[in-house]
Amino acid sequence: MPQLAYVNGRILPLADATLHIEDRGTQFGDAVYEVCAVMNGRILDWQPHLVRLRRNLAELGITLDIADGPLTLQARRLIAANGHAECIIYMQVSRGTAKRDHAFPGAAPANLVMTVRRFDFAQRLRQLESGIAVITQPDNRWGRVDIKTTGLLPNVLAKQAAKQAGAFEAWLVAGETVREGSSTNAWIVKDGRIITHPTGTAILPGIARDSLIRLAHAAQLVVEQRPFTLAEALAADEAFLTSTTAPILPVVRMDGTAVGNGRTGPVVRRLAELVWNEVARQTGWRA
Ligand code: PLP
Repeated sequence: MPQLAYVNGRILPLADATLHIEDRGTQFGDAVYEVCAVMNGRILDWQPHLVRLRRNLAELGITLDIADGPLTLQARRLIAANGHAECIIYMQVSRGTAKRDHAFPGAAPANLVMTVRRFDFAQRLRQLESGIAVITQPDNRWGRVDIKTTGLLPNVLAKQAAKQAGAFEAWLVAGETVREGSSTNAWIVKDGRIITHPTGTAILPGIARDSLIRLAHAAQLVVEQRPFTLAEALAADEAFLTSTTAPILPVVRMDGTAVGNGRTGPVVRRLAELVWNEVARQTGWRA
C-alpha cells in the first residue's frame, strides 16, 4: 500500500502530496507542527497536542480554519488510510502560500499537511535496558523555543553532531544550564529527586514531560522544575530524556562519562513502568 498524506483537505499518495514552492514554511520557517504517537491505532495524548498546537498558532497569529473536531477526524482518517497500528503522525501548519515578503500576507489561508510514518515503539523498551548516550552542545536557538516551529536548524545541527559522536541525543547547554535535548526534554535524578528545567521561553513544553510530571506526582515522587547545571548532570545518580517518540530513555553516558554507575537506575525503571502503563491505559498497547 503506498504511503498516504494529507494536504489541505485531501488525502493522496505521498509522492503527489505537495505544497507550493512559496509556502511560508519553506521560505521562512513560518510554520508550527506537532508529532503524535499512535499505538494500537489510537493517538496518545491527543488533547494536549491539540491544545499546544492551538497555543502555538495563537502565539504566531496564524489562523487555521478547521476546528478541533474535524481536525481530529482528518487525523484519524489519515492514520486509518495508512493502515499502521504503530506509527507517528506529523502535522504542520504554515501561514500559507504568498509572494515572498517577510511581513504577513493579507489573505493567504494556512496550509495544513499531515504525514504518517510507521514507528517501532518496542525498540524504546529495548533501549530502556541498554540506555543511551548524549553529548552536549551550545544552545544557540532563538528566544522563543517554547513555540514549536519548523525553524529547527540549530536542533538539526546539534542532532547531527550527536549522531557523528555515536550518541542518541545532544543536550543543549546555555552558560552552565542544561536546557533540553535537540528533540527531547532533559532530566536528572539526585538523591531520589527528579529534576527538569522549568517551562517558560527556554524549552519546549513537552507533552511527554508534562505527562511524566503528572504520573510522578500521583506516585508520590518528588519532581523539581528548576534549572540544573552540566556539573549537576555529570554528578547525577541517574539521567533520562522524554519525548513523544522516546517516552522515556535512560541516559547512561554524557560527553563520554558514565552517569551514576553507567546503567539504568531504579528511579528511571519506576518512571518507565508508570509511563508505559499510562500508554497501555490510553491505547491498550503493550510490547
Ligand atoms: N524539546 C524539543 C526541542 C523537541 O523538539 C521536542 C519534541 O519534538 C521535545 C522537547 C519533546 O516534546 P514532546 O514530549 O511533546 O514530544
